[in-house]
Amino acid sequence: MLSTSELVAADRAHLWHPFTQQRAWCEEEPPVIIERAQGTNIYDTDGNVYIDGVSSLWCNVHGHRHPAIDAALRAQLERVAHSTLLGLSHPPAIELAQMLLAVAPPGLSRVFYSDSGSAAVEIALKMAFQYWVQRGEPQRSGFVSLQNAYHGDTLGAVSVGGIDLFHALYRPLLFDAWQARAGDAEHLEALLGEHSDHLAAVILEPLVQGAAGMLVAPDGYLRRVRELCDAHGVLLICDEVATGFGRTGRMFACEHEHVTPDLMCVGKGLTGGYLPLAATLAAERVYEGFLGRCEDSRTFFHGHTYSGNALGCAAAIATLQTFERERTLELLQPKIELLGHLLERQVAGLPGVAQVRQRGFMVGIELAQRPEGERMGHRVTLAARRAGAIIRPLGDVLVLMPALSIAAADLRRLVTITAGAIEEATSATSGQRPPLARQSS
Ligand code: PLP
Repeated sequence: MLSTSELVAADRAHLWHPFTQQRAWCEEEPPVIIERAQGTNIYDTDGNVYIDGVSSLWCNVHGHRHPAIDAALRAQLERVAHSTLLGLSHPPAIELAQMLLAVAPPGLSRVFYSDSGSAAVEIALKMAFQYWVQRGEPQRSGFVSLQNAYHGDTLGAVSVGGIDLFHALYRPLLFDAWQARAGDAEHLEALLGEHSDHLAAVILEPLVQGAAGMLVAPDGYLRRVRELCDAHGVLLICDEVATGFGRTGRMFACEHEHVTPDLMCVGKGLTGGYLPLAATLAAERVYEGFLGRCEDSRTFFHGHTYSGNALGCAAAIATLQTFERERTLELLQPKIELLGHLLERQVAGLPGVAQVRQRGFMVGIELAQRPEGERMGHRVTLAARRAGAIIRPLGDVLVLMPALSIAAADLRRLVTITAGAIEEATSATSGQRPPLARQSS
């Protein structure tokens, strides 16, 4: 195997990293290269250990190298790694669909597989659009999304995105969507009142807008959106790619407000963070809208080579079984409370912190405003890394989103390291300090 310095050189020579300014990547201190992981720890090629504070981009659920998921993958490898769902089926895809529907909000009855959260969103958008065409209402082709929304990076998902930094450049390539002010049900009501005849669906991230910086919706907002969609005959798409699989304290965020969307997108934690598998769950009435004779062209002409990959499905089945066997959601509740206390005690009062937002195990720590170009979020993550934790900022919002399985002691250490890193990085330079606040539930 290559040495660490050889790997760094080869990385800088050949890789193009996602969401990364490559010039900075190549000029700054050498990247950490992760070689292995165990539980909620990850190890680099020099043997340094870090707490995985963002669960490998919000997807690891039960820890790395979980024995049950590892075993399920090995067992599936003995059978078949991949077999297409186009014209064929296989047991893991069938069994996973059954299991997913058993834990999903009641009323969702069909599972359409894909391989990333973005694809799951594209599929939901296309399904909603086609549903109305086939109902003889082709003018219902528009979408309402929320300000600050993030639904992925493919063009359809970007069209319903609302983060200018990521999305504005691509406007010429996108379809138009109406944007509702996040958390403002009256604004949505006004938009629906004006445009519902031309709307296919409303799409949102239920309860927490993740990539926007963990912005927490007011209680009751999601419920109200469901009511408004019903009143105006518009479909509701809930994107649970980030919030799903326990992150908000329940299996799905929709459960908190007893909402069943017409289409629901899941990804990330579906395989416990092992493999790229995603799914779009549909209500029966949407599915039925696609039924007809072959020559009627009501088929959903969409599918990816790796849709419903057997290894991914096997990992997902083991992930869902682990939720049950280890009582993950039950054991999570005191950890959510502990996390809240720790943030309150150690982080919220720091001079460099403007606001701490928490919903379940999703945390955004907004740093106080700094002069542009200071990249304080990035600096804090470098300081945290030196102290033994990997966290990743969204601009100047630090995200904490550890695996649900993290031990209380490691959770304490993660918050302590984060607080220390904020102090170290922010005291090295001076910035203005807006009023302190804390938002949580
Ligand atoms: N939807 C939401 C809410 C997300 O947070 C993300 C990714 O962060 C996506 C969709 C896109 O998922 P993927 O990165 O797997 O394409």
